[in-house]
Amino acid sequence: MRLLGPSKMWSTHTPQEYEAKHLAMCTAARISPWESVRPVVAHVSEGRWVGDCPHCRNGIPLHRDWPTARCAECGGVFPHVQWPDAFDEIEAVLAVRPMANQNWTDPETVERLVVDNIRHGLAPKVVD
Ligand SMILES: [Zn+2]
Repeated sequence: MRLLGPSKMWSTHTPQEYEAKHLAMCTAARISPWESVRPVVAHVSEGRWVGDCPHCRNGIPLHRDWPTARCAECGGVFPHVQWPDAFDEIEAVLAVRPMANQNWTDPETVERLVVDNIRHGLAPKVVD
């Protein structure tokens, strides 16, 4: 992953650290982690892959290669995250922007992101 996620939001760099941090936050809030069948939909906000908790709307830091997404507000654990098919292209196009302008939400297309980059004088990124 080129963009950030749990490393930026929770200072966790492995799935094990992410799970441990989630458990610590749940314990501090006196709630127990529980597994949800509902999916989390990924989007990009200021350079971070995040999702909105389908139960409490809290922001959830996401990592594409990790097995779960975890909500610190309600304790939800989500085995299913909906990632965009154009994940690599989205990251490549956003990577040339300042972090505050690295934003993407479905159904925004890669072509639209490229047009916005050009409008702001950012070199189009060639995607392999
Ligand atoms: Zn939640």
